[in-house]
Amino acid sequence: MLYQPPLPVPYPQLDLAACEERVRNAKQTLGASVVILAHHYQRPEIVGFGDFRGDSLKLAQLAATQTSARYVVYCGVHFMAESADILKPGDQTVILPDLGAGCDMADMAAAPDVADAWLELAEMAPAAIVVPVTYINSTAALKAFVGERNGYVCTSSNAGKIVTHALRQAGPGGKVFFFPDQHLGRNTSLALGIALDEMALWDPSRPYGGLTPEAIARAKVLLWKGHCPVHMMFSAKQVEAIRKADPQVRIIAHPECAMEVVGLADDVGSTEFIVSSIAQSPAGSSWAVGTEMNLVRRIAMENPDKKIISINPYMCLCGTMNRIDMPHLAWALEELVAGRAVNVIAVADPVRSWARVALDRMLELS
Ligand code: 13P
Ligand code: SF4
Repeated sequence: MLYQPPLPVPYPQLDLAACEERVRNAKQTLGASVVILAHHYQRPEIVGFGDFRGDSLKLAQLAATQTSARYVVYCGVHFMAESADILKPGDQTVILPDLGAGCDMADMAAAPDVADAWLELAEMAPAAIVVPVTYINSTAALKAFVGERNGYVCTSSNAGKIVTHALRQAGPGGKVFFFPDQHLGRNTSLALGIALDEMALWDPSRPYGGLTPEAIARAKVLLWKGHCPVHMMFSAKQVEAIRKADPQVRIIAHPECAMEVVGLADDVGSTEFIVSSIAQSPAGSSWAVGTEMNLVRRIAMENPDKKIISINPYMCLCGTMNRIDMPHLAWALEELVAGRAVNVIAVADPVRSWARVALDRMLELS
């Protein structure tokens, strides 16, 4: 995670109304030169100022195609802003209003650790073709590592398609090495009919991932031992209690949840999928949702004719997503009005080019 120095005066003291006025005025002054992209997990007031909102795939596709704005202010987390910078079609400048908005899961797979694991795996399975796949929730350096080795990026929207493609590329006896989210990797592989004993969990803190040669030989999919702390807060026990209390409820979960939760869910998909599935459901339906709390609350507000609860009634906020707040957005926009771009996310070569290769492969298959 990067360090964000404290905001200058007066931003830390501004209340919500003052920030809103500043953001409104700055947006008006900057006009079409700025586009604000907001991920579904952003605070409600930030989403309200977004020109577009979406999941990682939708926002990556937007970043790759939008040509009118000179500045892209990305209200999301660091890996998303990096992807936008790598995919931008011209010389747009990408800004992340708070540099501390990282992703705990992405931080669990540092590219040098992955490179070590790659060498250890080659020692243990020298004859196997291994295709690396990284979830978009990863550093640009890891995306580049994967791009250089004929691999792919995927998102929660297209993981099934990408892993299928990667398995085909690996061929009989080959393997997919999936980073950094063991849960998305496991849930996706299970949905593709791969048995649990054909998957192996690679623990980067142990030599050779803590795996025996037999476990490696058997594995079609190797799962890096990473996870999202927010999505680990949902459990099968909670789902069972909700179903008992309301037999009509539909359970909808993000695939970053553990397989025990996903296995009990009626629907599983990305944040965009969750938003549209609930929006399209008939009035009066009831839903229990397994994903970040800002989004669950907003879905509830936007669907007043339905009963929407979180699978976990306690706080499931993504602390890093929440670092993007109105004072930081007001500051970033007012600096642009003053002719200064702050918190610019710029990925340099050679990481940039190889990460682009991996992202482009994904977009072609999406
Ligand atoms: P989506 O691509 O589904 O929006 O997921 C991003 C994310 O970080 C989920 O935790
Ligand atoms: Fe990362 Fe989890 Fe936050 Fe998504 S919810 S950005 S995976 S920490």
